[in-house]
Amino acid sequence: MLTPRDLPSVDRLIRAARTTGDEAAPHTLLLEAARTELAAARTQLRDGALATDDLLTTLAERVRVRVADALRPSLRPVLNASGVIIQTNLGRAPLSSAALAAMARVGGGYSNLEYDLERGGRGGRGVHLEGLLTRLTGAEAALAVNNNAAAVYLALLALAPGREVIVSRGQAVEIGGGFRIPDVLRQSGATLVEVGTTNRTYAHDYAAAITERTALLMRVHSSNFRLVGFVHETPLDEMAAVGRAHGVPVLDDLGSGTLLPTAPYGLAPEPTVQASVASGADLITFSGDKLLGGPQAGLIVGRRDLIEQLRRHPLARALRVDKTTIAGLEATLRAYLSGTALDELPVWRMISAPLAGLQARAEALAAQLRAAGLAAEVAPCRSAVGGGSLPGETLPSVAVAIKPGPDGADALAARLRAGSPAVVARIAEGRLLLDLRTVFVEQDELLLRQLLAS
Ligand SMILES: *Cc1c(COP(=O)(O)O)cnc(C)c1O
Repeated sequence: MLTPRDLPSVDRLIRAARTTGDEAAPHTLLLEAARTELAAARTQLRDGALATDDLLTTLAERVRVRVADALRPSLRPVLNASGVIIQTNLGRAPLSSAALAAMARVGGGYSNLEYDLERGGRGGRGVHLEGLLTRLTGAEAALAVNNNAAAVYLALLALAPGREVIVSRGQAVEIGGGFRIPDVLRQSGATLVEVGTTNRTYAHDYAAAITERTALLMRVHSSNFRLVGFVHETPLDEMAAVGRAHGVPVLDDLGSGTLLPTAPYGLAPEPTVQASVASGADLITFSGDKLLGGPQAGLIVGRRDLIEQLRRHPLARALRVDKTTIAGLEATLRAYLSGTALDELPVWRMISAPLAGLQARAEALAAQLRAAGLAAEVAPCRSAVGGGSLPGETLPSVAVAIKPGPDGADALAARLRAGSPAVVARIAEGRLLLDLRTVFVEQDELLLRQLLAS
């Protein structure tokens, strides 16, 4: 029977952990881990809860695990087999090689971020993106901030404090993560004026609510939910006509927005930024890391005088984007300009991936898993675009379905999440589904290895 008197000294435990583990582990981490494990072992021995024939080796291994945990990055890559292409919890849009290369090139050194190389003096960081954004969307002017929530907030702060913003009752929504349109309006000092009903709002509802206190008409993309049935949303061009007639600008929060049409992939049409500009919205905001497929950012395009007001607002500085984001966004936008977005941007590669290719990969993977004794087969499934775009819309896809052992699908999913890299799958009818639409082709090998190891 072991007692606390059998415990090794801190020094002896550290020496043992060193020889069995990472030679380069910093002493401070080893010391902290050894003290923690000795204290835990003391309690366990007293309670008779530690049974081992080699106390030193057992504790040294625990110390090693603890040190390795402390040295492991917290933010690390994940294999996304969930089938949700733009998954906010998994970091939204994976970046293109060109975006990553641009971010590394600019981030690792100095750049002309705010420096006019021709004149040899101070420049503006806005110039790197504005030309691209105006060319791609048809808008007069453009500005990038930290994310779309910041874009909406800045627009309201600059244009509406102390005044009224008219929003359809069906659009006074929560986007997620506690971002609620009525709350954001209040925080910016504006007053929300709701018009219409939850399901139907007409142009004349907006017109009737306009007073001399009205700062904006605002449209909000319904993002992650959909109203169906007896529904009427006022088309943006009708809102813009009402706005123009009364001299009130229209702010359009597109949420995801997109520069490419979604209909060719059998999806409902997600509103394009170009269409919003063409419909006459005065200011349009959208995310950089949803369907655009770039880094986290909020993009604002629209009338030059309004964009200037936003740029000059004292809070614009607090919401500005850094050099690596600008570099990644510029490379992402250039893919649209050169017509290579579908091939270059992972989000669009996944959306447009043909079923036949997914089917072939699933068959190859399932065959290899079966050869190793796992109950794996190919199963049709549906992928989601996610990211608050196209609510309820799915794409046909192909999954590898695994029938778990006696401990069940939840246990198998947990083991896959604990792997390195972690694999995130989904469970349907007691089976584990690995949707290949969101797994990159070059990750199939790695996915197989993780499945065989779990
Ligand atoms: C996603 C979304 C936002 C927030 O955008 P972030 O880039 O996540 O800050 C705001 N409004 C709508 C309609 C959205 O879909």
